[in-house]
Amino acid sequence: MYSNKKDYYEVLGVPRNATQEEIKNAYRKLALQYHPDRNKSPDAEEKFKEISEAYAVLSDEEKRRQYDMFGHAGIDGRYTREDIFRGVDFDEIFRDLGFSFGGFDSIFDWFFGRHEHEPEKGYDLRYDLEISLEEAFKGVKTEIEIPRNEKCEVCKGTGARPGTEPKICPKCHGTGQIQYTRTSGFARFVQITTCDRCNGKKTIIENPCKVCHGSGIVKRYRKIRIEVPPGVDTGYSLRLRGEGEVNIKGGKPGDLYVVINVKPHKLFKRDGDDIFYDAYIGFTQAALGSEIEVPTIDGIARLKIPPGTQSGTVFRLKGKGMPRVRGFGRGDELVRVIVRIPTNLTDRQRKLLLELAKELGEEIR
Ligand SMILES: [Zn+2]
Ligand SMILES: [Zn+2]
Repeated sequence: MYSNKKDYYEVLGVPRNATQEEIKNAYRKLALQYHPDRNKSPDAEEKFKEISEAYAVLSDEEKRRQYDMFGHAGIDGRYTREDIFRGVDFDEIFRDLGFSFGGFDSIFDWFFGRHEHEPEKGYDLRYDLEISLEEAFKGVKTEIEIPRNEKCEVCKGTGARPGTEPKICPKCHGTGQIQYTRTSGFARFVQITTCDRCNGKKTIIENPCKVCHGSGIVKRYRKIRIEVPPGVDTGYSLRLRGEGEVNIKGGKPGDLYVVINVKPHKLFKRDGDDIFYDAYIGFTQAALGSEIEVPTIDGIARLKIPPGTQSGTVFRLKGKGMPRVRGFGRGDELVRVIVRIPTNLTDRQRKLLLELAKELGEEIR
């Protein structure tokens, strides 16, 4: 992890509106300069990782969008280090440039210095949380219940009833594989298959644990407290480290991602931190000017309508929008005034309007 991470665009030296082509070219150029195969200065490797991370994010439309909206928090809060690098065409780029991965199979292993025998992390889990616009405004503190697979505590994940132990598979003698030799004329063929008795697990369980039925895994509902900050929008995700699935072979548990979906509101529309509202006023109010009350996400505001306001005019109520989830202050509320033309006129209203039309020189046929 880099403390005080630099802006990805700055790292690659490209403008914020750079095309994918420009991003790739910038990365190739910098990779040539900093790849540890070429550059033996002590900070070249760090620098190389930095440009590679910037490229990994900006070359992926979805990650780039997250980064543009939320900055580094949008990436670090949503993706694991490995997920950041997943799916990037490093192999192809490096092959083009003639680089190796320092003896590792892929940039992935090279970056994370992963060893083959390290147990993998458990699976990440996703939980979708639907909230109202009001809740998004205030932020939400709640408890969610997550079903996840955990190691069975009764058998400690072995799957064998307490007091018994898994036995070495008698069929494959604990190798998990079976060899068949076939002779055909003078040729001998050796065929290796997965042991069908233990399914390659190398052990068998004669007395399965009653709680997990021999799987070593139980499904548990866990209550987890979460805190959603004020101002979040649909697609925002919270990452809870280590709250994902457990890998019973060891290794770290995965992470839990709580993905927010903000429900549509019956009065307001939202665009980023701004809120849009349509206010209907009478045509005399529009002509003569008036003051009206408009709802906001946290109460009622007064809005002055100047004389001669046209239908469709938009007024801005500064600071009446959503809180900025990263940063300070609030967006605005934009009130579009729509002038209502009266219908179902009474005789008197009709007469008055005809008189007005005459006064305005408007011809009524
Ligand atoms: Zn068990
Ligand atoms: Zn076996």
